[in-house]
Order: sequence, then structure tokens, then C-alpha cells
Amino acid sequence: MTDTLDIKITKSAQSRLQETDFDNLPFGKTFTDHMLVADYADGEWKNFEILPYGPIELSPAISALHYGQAFFEGIKAYKHADGTVSIFRPDKNARRFNKSAERLCMPTLPEEVFVQSIAALVDLDRDWIPSKANHALYIRPFMFATDPFLGVTPSATYKYMVIIGPVGPYFSKPLRVKIETQYTRAAEGGMGYAKAAGNYGSSMLPARKAAEEGFDQLIWTDAKEHKYVEEMGAANAMFLLDGVLITAETKDTILDGVTRDTVIALAKEWGIPVEERKVSVAELIEGAKNGKLTDAFGAGTAATIASVASISYEGEEYFLSDPQTREFSQKVFKTLDAIKYGQAEDTHGWNYIV
Ligand SMILES: *Cc1c(COP(=O)(O)O)cnc(C)c1O
Repeated sequence: MTDTLDIKITKSAQSRLQETDFDNLPFGKTFTDHMLVADYADGEWKNFEILPYGPIELSPAISALHYGQAFFEGIKAYKHADGTVSIFRPDKNARRFNKSAERLCMPTLPEEVFVQSIAALVDLDRDWIPSKANHALYIRPFMFATDPFLGVTPSATYKYMVIIGPVGPYFSKPLRVKIETQYTRAAEGGMGYAKAAGNYGSSMLPARKAAEEGFDQLIWTDAKEHKYVEEMGAANAMFLLDGVLITAETKDTILDGVTRDTVIALAKEWGIPVEERKVSVAELIEGAKNGKLTDAFGAGTAATIASVASISYEGEEYFLSDPQTREFSQKVFKTLDAIKYGQAEDTHGWNYIV
């Protein structure tokens, strides 16, 4: 499909823009005037519609609520100083959206339809995009099963929706993280690589327990031995150890992050060796002790580059260098920002201009 997507647009009678406090934007609490909805039925996507943001009516028997046929994406749009609006690498999210769909026996969406539907909604609500540093428009596409039928079988009908909202920074300070050795986020053969709703539901109890112990975030380890680092909360975990950028290789327990991929691309351009491989807890702790672990951060669209202040393991807390002094993650953060906000040339073609 190459022609433009046909979307019916019903505008809200009155914008909520004026009453929105752009100096106070906790993540994920403010939404724009409109949302996008489409239906899947009889084997095809139809009824693409943008309408005023608000509640939707659903059967209490929808299988998304009972059996978790639901997944989402997370993307950001930015406003440049000249008013240009760009979405960061939405083609990558389109591909991952379909990987999640396939894993959950749900229908895929043509990549152009995904990107065009998002761009249309962002375009309509472009006045909502903050222009302040560290602020952006968060885009949340998602899909869920809508058959009103209590049978553990794939639904025949689905809804695809997109909601968007202005956001400030997700984390306000460097994180004290705990290496989790009891609970597991994802196991081989599971669905860790999909942005499946259920993956996040299961992460909440371990995250709450860690918070009660005073930690800001968890570092997940492998399900079998709890010896290898997988991800950090809902971000990819990346480390600079002895001058080498190391991160877990993408496989079925790892979410193939767009930010992760972007950081790897920049590191390679800067001549920094990159290793996508098993990263052992032992080598990180050793590096924290002998000073060779010079950088550690979570990489994700919501979290951006989230610095790790300290890593705790088996009751011992290891503090790393002051995040402000870390050359690599500071450079990544600044370079990425310059590209996203249109201050540096987008040599990679990462910005999709709306
Ligand atoms: C969304 C997510 C990431 C980050 O992916 P990005 O594409 O960079 O936003 C990493 N890990 C998990 C588990 C996630 O859900």
C-alpha cells in the first residue's frame, strides 16, 4: 500500500491545550485533544478514524482483558526551533509492532499504515508538542483483542489505537539499581522480545519490592542462572567496560530497543568497540570494584539515556563515577538530543518529518 491512508477526522469541539500546564508534565498523564482508532474484522483493517480523546465502550468479555492479547509501542515526536516536527525512527517501531503482533497471534499492520496513522494524529495535535529541552510528545500505539468471547483462542476482531501526550523527563536523577536474582522478566521461549502488556504486569511486584528496599530500578538477569544481565526495567541495559560498549545480544528474552540500536550505531561511528553478547553480573561487579566500569545506563524511548548511579548485588552497593563526568553517555545524550531537536544534521535519516 503506497497511497495515503484514508482517515476520517472528527475534531474536538474545544481544545484542552490552554488549560494544560506545560511546566508540570508527569510522564503519561496528559493526553492531547485527539486519538486514533481502527478496527480489524473479517480479515482486514478498516474504519481508520481520528476523534476526540476520551473513553471507549467495550464488552466486559473482550479477550484482551482476560487472556492478555494486547501489546503496545512507545515513540517520541520532537519540535525543532523552526517549528518542524519530527518523529524518531517510527519505521523501527512499525517492524517491532508487527513482531509483537505475530508473537501474540494478532494481525499485523502494514508498516506505512502504522507510520502514516501516527503522523496524521501528531500533525493534527502538533500544537501540543513541547519545545522545551528534555520534553517531547510521547506516542503510544497499541492493539488489543475485542472478541466478546471467553475462550482461550485468538480473537477474530481487534482494535488498533494511538494516543499521544506531551511529556517531560521520565527519571529526574541517576538511578540506584538492584540486580534482580529471584524474579524473572522473560524466559527463553517466552515473549520478552514483544512489547506485550503482560510482560509489564509481571514486572510490577518485583519493581515494588525493589522500591521498598530503596532502589529506583531493577536490572533483570537470565531466567536460568540469574548470572547474566538482560535489561534494566523497561529499558535496555548498556555498559562501558574497559573501553568497550557491552549490552545483551537481542534474542527472545530481550526487547530490541530503538534507542539501543541508535546508541550502538553512534558508538561504532565514534570508533568505540561494541560487543552484543552475554554480559555477566560478575564482570560488572568486578569492573565496578576496579574502576573499569566507566559508564552504565538504561536506553529507551521513555527513559532516554538513564544514568546508573549505583549497582547493588547481594546486599552490597557499588557506586560508579559521577554521571556528569561520564564521557560516553554524556556525548550520546547530547548527540541524540541535537539530532532529535534538529540542531545537528540528521545524517542517518532517523527523523521522520511530519
Ligand atoms: C520499550 C522497551 C525498551 C526500549 O525500547 P526503545 O525502542 O528504545 O524505546 C527496552 N526494554 C523493554 C523491556 C521495553 O519495553
